Amino acid sequence: IDYTKTTMGARLLRNWVNTPLQNKEAIENRLNAVDELYSNIARKEALTRCLSDISDIERLAGRVAYGSVMPRDMLSLAASLRKLPQIKLLLEESSSNALKECYEALSDFSELETLLTNAISEDAPLTLKEGGYIKQGFNDELDTLRSAGTEGKNWLAKLEAVEREQTGIKNLKIGFNKVFGYFIEVNKSQQELVPLRYVRKQTVANNERYITEELKEIENKVLGSEELSIKLEQKLFDEIKKVLNEYVDKLLLAASSIATLDVFTSFASLAIRRNYVKPKIISSSGTLEILEGRHPVVEALLKDEQFVPNDVCLNNSDNRTMIITGPNMAGKSTYMRQVALIVLMAHMGCFVPAKKATIPICDRIFTRIGASDDLAFGQSTFMVEMSEVSSILHNATNKSLIILDEVGRGTSTYDGLSIAWAIMEYISSSLKARTLFATHYHELTELEGNLDGVKNYRISVKEFMDKVVFLRKIVRGGASRSFGIEVAEIAGLPKEIISRSKQILEGLESQDNRHITNLASKGDIEKVDNTQKIAKEIYNELKEVDINKMSPFMAIELVNDLCEKIKKGN
Ligand code: ATP
Repeated sequence: IDYTKTTMGARLLRNWVNTPLQNKEAIENRLNAVDELYSNIARKEALTRCLSDISDIERLAGRVAYGSVMPRDMLSLAASLRKLPQIKLLLEESSSNALKECYEALSDFSELETLLTNAISEDAPLTLKEGGYIKQGFNDELDTLRSAGTEGKNWLAKLEAVEREQTGIKNLKIGFNKVFGYFIEVNKSQQELVPLRYVRKQTVANNERYITEELKEIENKVLGSEELSIKLEQKLFDEIKKVLNEYVDKLLLAASSIATLDVFTSFASLAIRRNYVKPKIISSSGTLEILEGRHPVVEALLKDEQFVPNDVCLNNSDNRTMIITGPNMAGKSTYMRQVALIVLMAHMGCFVPAKKATIPICDRIFTRIGASDDLAFGQSTFMVEMSEVSSILHNATNKSLIILDEVGRGTSTYDGLSIAWAIMEYISSSLKARTLFATHYHELTELEGNLDGVKNYRISVKEFMDKVVFLRKIVRGGASRSFGIEVAEIAGLPKEIISRSKQILEGLESQDNRHITNLASKGDIEKVDNTQKIAKEIYNELKEVDINKMSPFMAIELVNDLCEKIKKGN
């Protein structure tokens, strides 16, 4: 669901996912900005087009600050800056505060943009080593040096012609050797025509070699031009870097504005494309209500099936905890995650996949989902599960949303069920956090009526000709079966295993005396605990008794004491 156009936007989006807002006004600020773009599609589209051409100004500004900026970085910076006036124009009429802030944060970079456009050559190489990155026409001296290099030979040819004409020496030649550099060569027979300004340098068999002021100048230009032009480019580049350096703060501000704008437009595009709505944000004590909510990712990925939307209503009193039962594959996890995702998206300032959503401010969303281990750090699957639950129970408050998907499954049925039961009691009586708890321990449905705020829900299915049809709708009430064997059959387990499983299940169900009625209320559990305590005390006392040293009266007194103890204990 990432529709951002710039890397800065993608980075900021990740940041917003990890640090959702908790301030109602700040969230509404973002939502209003998205709403404004959502309501004016033409403007949003124009902004999206501009944003697509903008590179990572934040990273480029970082390179400027570190002094590692290269000519090609400057080119992409210039290209990005060129888009800003158009973006400013599109934001000019904004009414939402957040869009106005984006507008304000965009400075005028026209001078910088002109400098970079005029200075840096479009086909600048990757490195500075060989030069060639400063544009022709940017600096006269550099242009002269460069033409000295490339046109040096033409100049020499021209000079040769001029000298022949001026001196009348027809076979005068300009030559070159490594020791003397460029020279004018005249045959000894024409010595008398050599003018005074010629300075003799070397005598060879039939010729004399000379240099002149002009030839020396050209030689300097030709031979040193390349080295000099590289040095001069570097100097000019350093000067541009200095200018750029003064813009770092403004560039970072603009980068943050562009990133924010990018996330807003991507939220608006998402809302338009996927039919999301603006959530209403309320204070943390209000009721969480989602009408026809959908899972944003499952909905987007379903091909042949329609996603079935579901409602949720979690208040702070009688409907605070949902115990969700239902067959395997029914959609329990999807439902719980969609609630968490909708709450998270709303806290980011994003529209949500629902028909209507009222979201109270949440301090945190806690989830315990799936099975994983951390063997390298000495944590088994069950240990990881329990550590996660422990962290939730230590940190959640009555403003949190807790999603528990199958707690206690990694141990024996009775251990797991007891832990899950006690956790629900603790959340209900101490934490009072809004909680969704999916489970296959159908015994937990007995908590409704015994614990404050707990209500049973199930994801409905239909049994049709010995098969399960998933309806994906959440309804009130608990489920009595998990249809695990039917789902295993769909998954392709061998037929003999399926039929044998059915046989075993029938056997177990007929002798099922495992219904845990004695866990129905917390008081009962406490009674069981106390009885055990007294029994232990009596056992310890009797252990010390030596019957041979007791009179009949003493024995009667002891029995009387023990009876009193039992009566008091109950
Ligand atoms: P288990 O108990 O086996 O873990 P579950 O009840 O948690 O199963 P999910 O994992 O949530 O079931 O859902 C199984 C599949 O059903 C999903 O991968 C998804 O493709 C589909 N599904 C779930 N909810 C819906 C829905 N509301 N509309 C359409 N398809 C759905």
